[in-house]
Amino acid sequence: MKTTVKSLEGSRQLLFINGRFVAPKNGNYIASYDPTTSEPWYEFAEADAADVDDAVAAASKAFRDPAWRRMTQTDRGRLVRKLADLVLQHADELAEIETRDNGKLIKEMRAQMRSMPDSYHYFAGMADKLHGETIPVNKLDMLNFNMREPIGVVGMITPWNSPLMLLTGTLAPCLAIGNTVVIKPSEHATASTLALAELITEAGFPDGVVNVVTGTGKSAGEALTRHPRIAKYVFTGSTNTGRRIAGNAAMNLVPCSMELGGKSPHVVFGDVDIEHAVNGVVSGVFAAAGQTCVAGSRCFVEANVYDRFIDALVARTQRIRVGHPMDAETDIGPLALADQLSKVEGYVASGVKEGAKIAAGGKRPQSQDLSRGWYFEPTVMVEAQNDMAFMRDEIFGPVVGVMPFKTEEEMIELANDSNYGLASGIWTQNIDRAMRFANQIEAGTVWINTYRASSFMSANGGFKESGYGRRGGFEVMREFTRLKNIIIDYSGAMQDPFVIRLK
Ligand code: NAD
Repeated sequence: MKTTVKSLEGSRQLLFINGRFVAPKNGNYIASYDPTTSEPWYEFAEADAADVDDAVAAASKAFRDPAWRRMTQTDRGRLVRKLADLVLQHADELAEIETRDNGKLIKEMRAQMRSMPDSYHYFAGMADKLHGETIPVNKLDMLNFNMREPIGVVGMITPWNSPLMLLTGTLAPCLAIGNTVVIKPSEHATASTLALAELITEAGFPDGVVNVVTGTGKSAGEALTRHPRIAKYVFTGSTNTGRRIAGNAAMNLVPCSMELGGKSPHVVFGDVDIEHAVNGVVSGVFAAAGQTCVAGSRCFVEANVYDRFIDALVARTQRIRVGHPMDAETDIGPLALADQLSKVEGYVASGVKEGAKIAAGGKRPQSQDLSRGWYFEPTVMVEAQNDMAFMRDEIFGPVVGVMPFKTEEEMIELANDSNYGLASGIWTQNIDRAMRFANQIEAGTVWINTYRASSFMSANGGFKESGYGRRGGFEVMREFTRLKNIIIDYSGAMQDPFVIRLK
């Protein structure tokens, strides 16, 4: 892999179409900014409909090409494994690129990149394990079976917060099954996906199996999601964009898998060790500066321990170190975008206006060293109400609203009172209560006495406005295959051509 943080500096990044890096037809490029300094550091190509057409044509051709179509399952699995090994070999360089692009902590990105190959290996193993079934047919001398086959060209649109990790969960199974792909990474963090394209070539995937079109949602994204030759869209991003993409896809009757936003409830009962629960709540909402879809940003605490919990949460929050993401001592880096910083400030101000109080944080850090970047202090808001704007909308920043509850019924009502349904967490030593919560909560993931633990071996996804479709586990294989029903008559008997044979 040639791309490094150093080589990106001041460079112009091209599109990756049909196995080659090519310039956009319109000659346009967009600057990518370093979130720690707000300065531009490289440029990437602004693809439009003409480039997207080329990428889809390359992916369609590759899908039909015997070099891919007739590759054995074992060989396809081998290629995905080769990619896994290359990702592992370049994990630290990929991590540095992502940190520089989106401001997430280097320690977190290294951990993500070093664990990603396991995910590729897991899905590579599925290439030769996917099978259909034989079905009774209620007729003699006939064989009836279902076959699973790849669906075609998959359009993948990714966000900026964990570009490669979020891509891996769908790219790896998609390739293992034999589909081809056009990826549109976020305009706020494109570099790591282009670097991955280099590794895809190095691994030996045939040209056109994976293509990357960079650019804005308005241009490249719209062109991709209106394209008539895409078999499925996999989108990870905000709920509003998801609505727009699902609308475009519907015009061509193309199915989607949607991983969208969240406003997840995090519940604490008085029967737990408070420091332990505080640690969980901090990790749930302040990790990655709150820029995670599963952020536990609405915290409900049993009234009998509420004051004690708030004191401990505020004390812990004040010890969080905001700093440069490359520094191993840093807990919270900058937000990835200037707009994101204004959005967070706006929600904190609106919360205060609606009657909430800031118990910790609430502003940009005062340190001179951080003044050029898009930093915001981890913020605890108390006297929150579930109907305040900052408790209803996804902020995608380091802000938690906390409120007390008295009964389990009241807590469930509050927790479910949201348009979103992505994740949830509960801290209690009472297993009956934890299971009652798990049964009643409207969320695709339930964490009990932990938060943000995840496995590529289990199916994840949202309920309600957090999306539909599942990533991970065997379930994801169904997302990227279609069923074909085949009936063979081996009786040799001539049938009446005007009567359908029901028996
Ligand atoms: P976003 O919706 O602004 O953008 C996501 C992607 O969609 C980008 O590549 C963007 O260019 C593209 N896009 C924008 N408009 C488009 C259009 N009209 N047509 C086609 N593509 C378009 O999201 P973001 O700000 O990059 O990411 C943050 C959001 O992603 C948050 O809401 C977060 O919760 C969500 N997210 C969800 C998950 C999950 O697994 N559920 C994971 C990570 C992030």
